[in-house]
Amino acid sequence: MKVRTGANGHRSDPMTVSAIKDLASARRIVVKIGSALLVTDGAANEAWLRSLAQDLWALREEGLEIIVVSSGAIALGAARLSLSKGGRASLADAQAAASVGQVALAQLWADALGQHDLTAAQMLVTIGDLEDRRRYLNASATLERLLEAGAVPVVNENDSVATEEIRFGDNDRLAARIAQAANADAVLLLSDVDGLFDRSPDEEGAALIKRVEGVTPEIIAMASDHSSSGIGSGGMKAKLQAARIAERAGIMLAIINGTHESPIANAVAADSGTIFLPRRHDSARKAWLGGRMAPEGVLSVDAGCVAALEDGASLLAAGLTEVEGEFQRGALVSLHGPKGERLGQGLVEYSADECRAILGLRDTDQEAQLGYAPRAAVVHRDHMVRG
Ligand code: GLU
Repeated sequence: MKVRTGANGHRSDPMTVSAIKDLASARRIVVKIGSALLVTDGAANEAWLRSLAQDLWALREEGLEIIVVSSGAIALGAARLSLSKGGRASLADAQAAASVGQVALAQLWADALGQHDLTAAQMLVTIGDLEDRRRYLNASATLERLLEAGAVPVVNENDSVATEEIRFGDNDRLAARIAQAANADAVLLLSDVDGLFDRSPDEEGAALIKRVEGVTPEIIAMASDHSSSGIGSGGMKAKLQAARIAERAGIMLAIINGTHESPIANAVAADSGTIFLPRRHDSARKAWLGGRMAPEGVLSVDAGCVAALEDGASLLAAGLTEVEGEFQRGALVSLHGPKGERLGQGLVEYSADECRAILGLRDTDQEAQLGYAPRAAVVHRDHMVRG
């Protein structure tokens, strides 16, 4: 695994990326491990984990900084508490299982990495920790300090406190969000399938897609949730959502088959898997905004406004046709076009009630409705991401 960096110390032009082995040109990488790989019948696959730790150590020797996002708490805890359905029968079961299993999971990582004199650092996060800008920056600072100090952060969702409505639920998207927070160049999702196939891999003639330039609706249609072992909760759809978050943030993402020992070394040697190329490099703040996952409302706009947004304009009240949801000023809202198509998302300058009051009005007519001078926009272009 050879590290190649460009003149600025970052990877070379992403368009030259041909396949998985170019992942090694990253500088900081997030490696996500699903429950199905780590746990079989409630017990950890320790030999496999040792071989993975060896791979991670080899990458570190090449100069890469590593962050691990590891599932497995629920599966490990469920076995210890003898809970049915792998601890996923109810939210309460999953929370109890996670709380028991996380202790074991942290120990497994501390031991596996410790064999190579690497220090594991546990970080448990909820979606709120990454959706709120201030908390996101805190998490980002912690990751930075841990890496600087030479530790390997081992991240998981804080399942024992996260509730259903506000959970990531899968660690694929969590890995993409952590990559953003850590300013990583690449995310590697270790899966129990070879990558993305053009149709269900069980179907005859299914072909592995080696390289994706943009998670388009056609690409999303290929995901048939075929990676469902029943133990984890990711599946191909969650992986594509993760790829979407990553590509917008300028982060490369790859899905490789992790079922064999030394999974990373094997995938690199065999050059197998699916790689998603980064599409754009939003500013750090816009990347954070684009990756946020829990809009509190929907603003629909007319065709004229859609065209203006495409030209990079702010969203003005005059183009607003409908407001859904109850939210306060500063909330994250989805932006939809006249046919309900998603245009992007942004931080709204008014509460839902105020948005309804000024809907369709030009600047001059807004003051009478609001009782104060209107703001420059309903969603300012600096607080908006498209797509
Ligand atoms: N965070 C969960 C766990 O540790 C797993 C989520 C997932 O399946 O991706 O068990």
